[in-house]
Amino acid sequence: MGKIKTLESYLAEHEFLREAANFHFKLEERLSDVKPLDLPPRDKVLKLVTAEKIPLLQQEKFQAPVLDATERFLPRALSKSLLRQENLSVKKICTAHELNEPLTRKLFWAAVDKLIPAELKTWTKDDWQENYCPICGRRPVLAQLKKFNDGRARWLLCGGCRTLWQWRCVGWTCATSATLT
Ligand SMILES: [Zn+2]
Repeated sequence: MGKIKTLESYLAEHEFLREAANFHFKLEERLSDVKPLDLPPRDKVLKLVTAEKIPLLQQEKFQAPVLDATERFLPRALSKSLLRQENLSVKKICTAHELNEPLTRKLFWAAVDKLIPAELKTWTKDDWQENYCPICGRRPVLAQLKKFNDGRARWLLCGGCRTLWQWRCVGWTCATSATLT
């Protein structure tokens, strides 16, 4: 309980963060029973996504289980549009259901994050070298450098399902990032 007290006193001093914090607590609570999907093993997934460079969740067969899992808190058509990144359709459905679009997006992707088994969340540069996520197809939100074997490697983090993949380290971007860390 010590941790909660500390957080509570922090929020008391930073009242403006309370609303965002409450949203995250509610989100966590709502998604607490979302369990990882029964997806193929890692080597099979790698073959499936590298064959035509189509991310796993952009393949029709793997969309259904995601839609099944999110159906109890989001309209199925909305989840489908979110998953396929059909932004116009997402906007229309949110408006029709009077849903707050940014919060709906957050809820959906937080659920997808939980649906992906841990063993499918990290890929090295020998696995995947595209600038979109091998699992859900979204673009990365941030790159980070971390120690990898004897050198440093640049990693991209998916803005949707939070998969990490190693990015080739080339040109000035790598040098600049290296000097910043
Ligand atoms: Zn992703």
